[in-house]
Amino acid sequence: MFNRVAFVTGASRGIGRSIALTLCRSGFEIVVASPEIENNEAVAEEIRACSGQAMTLNFDVTSAESVTEGFAKTLKDKTRIDVLVNNAGITRDGLAVRMKPADWDLVLKINLYGAFLCSQHALPSMMRNRWGRIINIASVVGQAGAAGQANYAASKAGLIGLTKALAQEMGSRGITVNAVAPGYIDTDMTKVLPEEVKQKILSTIPLGRMGTVEDIAAAVKFLASEAAGYITGHVLAVNGGMYM
Ligand code: NDP
Repeated sequence: MFNRVAFVTGASRGIGRSIALTLCRSGFEIVVASPEIENNEAVAEEIRACSGQAMTLNFDVTSAESVTEGFAKTLKDKTRIDVLVNNAGITRDGLAVRMKPADWDLVLKINLYGAFLCSQHALPSMMRNRWGRIINIASVVGQAGAAGQANYAASKAGLIGLTKALAQEMGSRGITVNAVAPGYIDTDMTKVLPEEVKQKILSTIPLGRMGTVEDIAAAVKFLASEAAGYITGHVLAVNGGMYM
């Protein structure tokens, strides 16, 4: 019996790290794919400490060369890719009227183009095996919009569109494609927000708390499982009710 292989981008910290650890506990071998090799190794060590298997890649989702090399190396070492979690993402916030073109481009390139490029490289292995799962980490902001985040909202709304298009293209091959749309999650990305902004966001969450990285990882674990085999093209909101 083989282990299924899950490729997680941006797995060096935050939500991606939690997804990697959670999928490893479900029996997946993990590919930890982020730019900083030392951070990736630290996560891989945690995976091995709980008897899981992990390989690390010095990986940049925006570089066609890095993505091609990373997937080729994975297929050489592991022979298969069963689950792709497109989690790598950044923010470069600012009002649209003053937004620098470079900040628009970088956010779209990492959050949307990166997910497309990785999907393109992961799909041939899934198609050969007639089984696969792509799980895109979108955002409540891609569903509801947010002032000061035109680039980020556009990238995450685009990711939802990509999810639905790929779900339609790949359904006949036994591959499901879904998105998880987190709300306000406690990670480095949200630590930088000013306290008054945090309190304002908290007041809009019916469940009355920030989400944890484990809340998101649990949703990804479900979508990666056999139990979710009849779900595709879906956007699973994990947001404490802040957008319904
Ligand atoms: P973090 O900032 O904690 O982590 C981001 C991860 O992405 C890091 O591992 C980082 O690597 C990696 N990364 C950045 N650029 C690249 C790149 N070019 N190629 C590969 N990896 C890259 O973010 P979160 O854990 O908070 O967010 C994870 C995902 O969840 C993102 O897509 C984000 O948009 C989404 N999300 C987060 C929410 C939140 O409230 N936190 C809410 C909604 C969605 P490195 O460590 O090397 O920088």
